[in-house]
Amino acid sequence: SRAQDDSELNRRPKTAEGPNSGAVGSSGQNDDDEQSRQMFNKRELRKRHKALFDQQLQLWREKRLSETITAGTEAAPSRVKVCVRKRPLFRYEEEADEFDVVSVRSGAQVVVHNCLTKADLRSLFISHMAFPFAHAFGEHSTDDEVYSQCAAPAVEHVLAGKVATLFMFGQTGSGKTHTMAGLIQRAAAHLFADSPRNEDGASEDDEQSETPVVSLSAFEIAGKTMRDLLDTSSPSKELKVMEDKGHKTRILGARSCTVNSPEELKEMMRSAQAHRATRATQVNDTSSRSHAVFRIVRTFGCNSRGEAATLTLVDCAGSERREDTTQHNAQSRKDAAEINSTIFALKECFRVMRSAKGDKPPYRDSLLTRVLSDSFSSDQALIVAIGTVSPSATDTEHSIGTLRALQQLQGTQMTFDERE
Ligand code: ADP
Ligand code: MG
Repeated sequence: SRAQDDSELNRRPKTAEGPNSGAVGSSGQNDDDEQSRQMFNKRELRKRHKALFDQQLQLWREKRLSETITAGTEAAPSRVKVCVRKRPLFRYEEEADEFDVVSVRSGAQVVVHNCLTKADLRSLFISHMAFPFAHAFGEHSTDDEVYSQCAAPAVEHVLAGKVATLFMFGQTGSGKTHTMAGLIQRAAAHLFADSPRNEDGASEDDEQSETPVVSLSAFEIAGKTMRDLLDTSSPSKELKVMEDKGHKTRILGARSCTVNSPEELKEMMRSAQAHRATRATQVNDTSSRSHAVFRIVRTFGCNSRGEAATLTLVDCAGSERREDTTQHNAQSRKDAAEINSTIFALKECFRVMRSAKGDKPPYRDSLLTRVLSDSFSSDQALIVAIGTVSPSATDTEHSIGTLRALQQLQGTQMTFDERE
């Protein structure tokens, strides 16, 4: 029945809804009583299914969760690292008969329990899909843990004078911005606390006594346009992206502000994010459809060796698939196409970075990857992608989509975990 499992994989878990459940109220002939009875039945069915699935998942977890999994990703140090964090199930979700269909095993694997009902709505089955990662964090993970495993190595990289980039990737509402806020908090302190660690230390002795200059720039990319998040005028200016003669990307007119302390850095990033959020409510939540890019450059005096030590944080647009027909206008369909092509361009850049061949990443394929060209083109660049997933059964399809995309970024594959 593997073929059948496969065909079911990309569908929403039908916990309470048969194929025609959308018919409730849509025929125009049901009177109110009939409608509310159907709703009641649906609710009852949903509750019953939840109880049955919960029971099975509990058994699985008792038996299987403590198994030790060796990290499925390559042991050799790689320039690309992919991690995942599962957010907790919220109380309001539990109250709406949601249940938790995601397990994190051994800190290195995410298992999605895809709960399915056959067409008769009586027979239930669960398909367990296992995704390996460099690090996997459960719902009880702390910001400190995520920071020390995923972000601290990137900051160390920057302190050593190199380029590092942190991507937050996941469905809207899965915890990208939440997790990034925790990382910013810690990265700001870390960036100012340490003295530089030059590998070629001796020749740069005198620079070590200088205080670093830290500067911040912040952008929002929506569709094919880019705006400055440090520019608080409204409407803020549109930024132009160009390539100079040396094939370096230049962002024309972008602000860059010098910051003197971790507090100042945090405050400036907070206000840039607030600026993004305000605009989002004005134009019908673009925040789920736009990418936010924060770039922190750390330099010493007037020393410039071509490549500035740079930490880039990217809060990506929601990874939920966009080609569905619920999009009511041409603009959101265009945004959708743009997000999909961005994700594709990102995958290609990650793939080239993983291969040791030294090819040039195809960053010209999307505005985001063009803006991030420095993050990809340096041969000492480090990239960390942190995926975020929701535990709820209703989000199963999107969680699987996110985890699949992350596997592609990492160059690994999901396996079925059906041993019984
Ligand atoms: P996204 O940016 O991916 O759309 P958010 O970061 O805004 O999602 O998270 C949605 C909600 O979930 C927020 O209220 C956030 O505080 C909460 N949340 C997300 N991740 C966690 C977590 N790991 N622990 C507790 N709350 C979380
Ligand atoms: Mg967000």
